[in-house]
Amino acid sequence: MALNSAGTPTGPVRLDGALGEGGGQVLRTALALSLATGRPFDIVNIRAKRAKPGLLRQHLTAVNAAAAVSSAEVEGAEPGSQTLRFRPGAVRPGEYAFQVGTAGSACLVAQTILLPLALAGGASSVVIEGGTHNPAAPPFDHLAEAWLPHLRTMGFRIDATLERAGFYPAGGGRLRLGIAPAAAFRPLVIEDRGAILVREARAVMALIPRSVGDRELDVVVRSSSLLRADCSVVTVDSPGPGNVLLLTIRCEGGTEVFTGFGEHRRRAESVAAEAVDEMREWHASGVPVGRHLADQLLLPMALAAGGSFRTLAPTMHTTTNCDVIAAFLGDVVTIERGTERGVDAEVCGGVRTSRVVVRGAATPAA
Ligand code: ATP
Repeated sequence: MALNSAGTPTGPVRLDGALGEGGGQVLRTALALSLATGRPFDIVNIRAKRAKPGLLRQHLTAVNAAAAVSSAEVEGAEPGSQTLRFRPGAVRPGEYAFQVGTAGSACLVAQTILLPLALAGGASSVVIEGGTHNPAAPPFDHLAEAWLPHLRTMGFRIDATLERAGFYPAGGGRLRLGIAPAAAFRPLVIEDRGAILVREARAVMALIPRSVGDRELDVVVRSSSLLRADCSVVTVDSPGPGNVLLLTIRCEGGTEVFTGFGEHRRRAESVAAEAVDEMREWHASGVPVGRHLADQLLLPMALAAGGSFRTLAPTMHTTTNCDVIAAFLGDVVTIERGTERGVDAEVCGGVRTSRVVVRGAATPAA
């Protein structure tokens, strides 16, 4: 295997998509790292642990977007493909537009190319169409209000705008990213939540009766410390019906967004319980970073100046992301106080927590 002057391996990375969580994140993280480091990779068993393995539209759009921004040579970029050979060229900042073509998550496509473009030394503008509020993916509000502010603290200069909401199954949402080159990186340290500044519950509705949102908010008021005055029903334009309940908690140490996703035949009370249960667990733990944000912070921290944060017990998404990052950058992520990766550090308010330390690839600003 070839080595660069710092002794870091530079040859193609070989990945098994069945690793850990075994879903689309293994591929997306690999694409982002391949673009950012210039290292090619080969992956087999893409999404092996999903009921319908291989590339779905969202993953294929992420591959095509990664190829477009870097003029990559790619083999295997076809619907259902379980193998991919990816040879990136240099990432070119510029104006790009990508369409998922279904309700697949535009936010996950954004997370694939955002960091490499931000590291490419020029300004970019990217429009992505697809789903913006999908179950099992970060809703746009999580991306914009929870994830991006931490990236800006690190030194990335990225803005995101929701131009139209898109829900499963109609899709048709659109988001826009404005990316300026990062000036200098600082380590991100999120050890404490600090005081809670704002709590807010928004029942977002497209072509769904307002009464559904009212029922969701009734559950929030009954089963959490949020007051009726913190709650609102928001009607948005979208090509098809959709509903999410967003619980946003803005703290001195950062913002968290907990989401319940409406689905056909799912009761409003169950949608609300999904969001409230996740918020209550986070609240009881006292940690600043929730479980979804935790797995999504690893990559920007590893590419920037690193840092540390306290979070809940690591999820499989977190440990799997550590493994993919390790395949490209070495063991730069440590989950602390246990004897092995994944061991919980302590129990707070009855909830297991951990501390994550990341060594970043970039030199911190003086
Ligand atoms: P799959 O292969 O499962 O079809 P996928 O490509 O859509 O999956 P995963 O590999 O499961 O996705 O990754 C999903 C990502 O979405 C993870 O980073 C996870 O933390 C994030 N995520 C899931 N639910 C939420 C949520 N409610 N809020 C914020 N982020 C979320």
